[in-house]
This record gives sequence, C-alpha cells and structure tokens, in this order.
Amino acid sequence: MLAAAKSLGIDRIGVTSAEPFPELRERLVLHRALGYESGFEEPDLDKRTQPSLLFEAPRSIVAIAVAYPSKLKNPPVSEPGARRGILSRSAWGEDYHRVLARRLERLAEWLAERAPELRWLSMVDTGALSDRAVAERAGIGWSGKNCMIMNDELGSWMYLGEMITNLPLPPDAPLLDQCGDCTICIDACPTGALVGPGQLNAQKCISYLTQSKGLLDEDAMVKMGNRLYGCDTCQIVCPINRGIDSRHQAETLPDPEVAKPLLRPLLQMGNREFKETYGASSASWRGRKPIQRNALIGLGNFRDEASAGDVARVLREDPRFELRATAAWALGRIRGDVASAALAEAAEADADERVRAAASRALAALSEPAPKRGRRAGE
Ligand code: SF4
Repeated sequence: MLAAAKSLGIDRIGVTSAEPFPELRERLVLHRALGYESGFEEPDLDKRTQPSLLFEAPRSIVAIAVAYPSKLKNPPVSEPGARRGILSRSAWGEDYHRVLARRLERLAEWLAERAPELRWLSMVDTGALSDRAVAERAGIGWSGKNCMIMNDELGSWMYLGEMITNLPLPPDAPLLDQCGDCTICIDACPTGALVGPGQLNAQKCISYLTQSKGLLDEDAMVKMGNRLYGCDTCQIVCPINRGIDSRHQAETLPDPEVAKPLLRPLLQMGNREFKETYGASSASWRGRKPIQRNALIGLGNFRDEASAGDVARVLREDPRFELRATAAWALGRIRGDVASAALAEAAEADADERVRAAASRALAALSEPAPKRGRRAGE
C-alpha cells in the first residue's frame, strides 16, 4: 500500500487500529469543560473517539495526507486603493474535502482489487472522527504544539483524511514528537488562542473567528488584519515548515486572485458571483457573509481612504446588520469626510440599534488620535 500511495496521488499513508481513542476523549472532555470548542465539531464525544460506533466491526483505519502549497508564486500586490485580503493556504486550491474524497475513493478501488471483501467508510474533516488523532496514531506525523500534524517532509502543509475498513491491516508506529523546547507558535499566536502545548481555545482562534457569522469584538477585528478566511500564523512561524512548499498536486495550486483577492469588489458581490468565484474553495462553506464582513475589517485595518465610499455604501444599503455595524467600525478607522457623513447618518437613522451604537462609537473614535495601522498577513 505504501508503494502504491504515490501513484494514487497520496503523499503519506499510514495505518492504525480501529481501537477507541481514550486519551483523545479525556482531552475533549476537558476542552469542552473549559469552553474551548468551536461549535463546528461533532457533539457526540463517543462517536468522535469510538470507530465501532460509526462502522460495523472495524479492523483498521487508513490515514492519508495530501500536500498543499505554502507560498503564492508572483502574488498580486496589495496597494492603497487596491487593498487585498488573504485566504488560508488550506483554502487556496480546490476544496480539500473533494480532493481527499477522490484520493480515498481511488485507494478503496486499489484495496478492493486486492481484498474484494473490503468495506470502508471515509471521512475528511467533517466526519465524526478526529483526522488529527487518527493521523498521529497512524504515523503520518506528530502532533505539534500548534495542534497541527506535521512531519519532516511536508511540515504541517497537508490535508488529512481517513478510511475505516474491515481489513486487519498491520498498524504503523507513531512518529516521535520533534517540537522539543520550541514554543514559537504559542508565542506567535495573535490572540493567545494556543493556551498551551497542543491546547487551542477555538473561541479565540482567528481561523474560527473568520468563519463565524456574527459581530466581532473590536480587539479581535484589529488582530484579524486582512485575513478573509483562516489564519496560518502558527504554521508560518514554525521552523519545521520553513522552506516547505509542495506544488506537485495540481488541484491544490492557487489562483492568486482567489487566494489574495481585492477587498473592495467583495463588498458588493452577489451570491451567484460569490459561488462562481469562491465556490470551488473550502473558504466558501459558510457562504459570503463572513468573507464580506472580513473584507470590511481588512479595509478598516488598512485605513484605506479610497474605499470609504464602498464601505459607506454597505453601511447605508446592506440589509444585514452585522455588515452595517462592521462597516461602521471600519469607517471609524478609515476616517475622512465620507466616513464622518455616513457615520453621522447611521448613528441617527439606522433601523437597528446595534448599528446605531456601532456608528456612535465610531463617531466618538474620530475625535481621538488615529490608531496605528496593524500588521497584515500576506500584504
Ligand atoms: Fe512545534 Fe515549534 Fe512548530 Fe510550534 S513552532 S509546532 S512548538 S516546532
């Protein structure tokens, strides 16, 4: 199977038993008690840790990894009047759920040719099992302090998926943890979401925040910079990842205009255009609202005066209060006459109390010294 993996488009493959994951369960119970869940997870901890609850008489789990790029070739420049946001590297190419599903399908065909009695159930990300716990036990990589699975060859720039089977395949040994004394990722996390080695408070994680749909607090918005989807900081700073940029999987190669898009055109984008432009990326799974909100946040953080008219239009016309309130915050940072006029109008007349409050706060901020521009990712 190892020898066949490359020809099936799989970069790493490993096997683990279908035994339960008791240590993971303990960690998940603690994680829940501390309020660290994102809310996107499977809520049933037994299903997440007991393969036998998902599949009749499981004998082994095959874990796979497919590498993705970490760098944009010839990235478009973000400049005044044409500021750009950035998507997480995991969302640059074709939606990895589809990519991995195809690999697992091919792997199942390959296995079935050799073991016709094969039964299998594959999962990628949205399945009940923890891809990372399976990959760690199957020897795909060790679990870094940044909660990512990594190895020397691919770093953590890899998608993970797995297949529960009825075949008694021999298990692989887990890899030795090579993080050592390093704590670079923990120290670099913009919001302190990495609360300890391998422990993430998803509620504070920028990746989670970019995928949420509501209003964000001011501190989080400042720290988000120009990120439209995901974060990647804990992977970018990791010395294991340095210099690793896998470009051999065609579906994972980015269109730079999608990976690092102009922010202003996003604000007025309708559903159909959004689906046409971003529908193939995993970044589209929550729809356009969070990405549009994040585009407003990015423009606010750039303090891009040229975008004041576009942002003011959102404040005046967008039917979604979350976007109008975020536009008010952004205008408070952008400043200038256009911003002041739109804010004064909204503080007085917006139909939603939350937007009026956001506009009033932004107006009050205009009388204070201008905030410094923060650091942006991928600028
Ligand atoms: Fe491990 Fe250091 Fe990489 Fe964090 S930055 S995952 S501690 S090697």
